Amino acid sequence: MRITIMSKRELTPKRHEVLEAIQGRTDHPTAEDVYHSLREQGSRTSLATVYRALRVLAEEGFVREVHGLGPDRFDPVRKPHYHLVCRRCNRVYDAVIPYQDHLDLLPPQAGFRVSGHEITFFGVCSSCSDTKEEGDGQGS
Ligand code: ZN
Ligand code: MN
Repeated sequence: MRITIMSKRELTPKRHEVLEAIQGRTDHPTAEDVYHSLREQGSRTSLATVYRALRVLAEEGFVREVHGLGPDRFDPVRKPHYHLVCRRCNRVYDAVIPYQDHLDLLPPQAGFRVSGHEITFFGVCSSCSDTKEEGDGQGS
């Protein structure tokens, strides 16, 4: 059975509102982040509604789910790309290395049809490496 991909017009107003709120964001927000930005804009939506809307939007292919550390994050960039996760601040960044299409052409197991792959790099981001570590003598 195949899921029919909805067009943007078929989205409910709530889901449309959530999609608009995440569009253009590059920080891979959590449902809670999206909820807060909507509330700041005067929306009266609930966190549960935002969470459900993001799940549906991900299932329908409008956004991608990103699994880092902590709660799931969402990405309006639908083009396949890789992520970097900072172990100190938990932020998720887009990797600059291009998606390796050729990996999708090598069957990782006989009979397995690949539709895509994900790569997440874990480490410490540049803004966290710049800051002194705890107990590092943080004088003012
Ligand atoms: Zn960091
Ligand atoms: Mn991304």
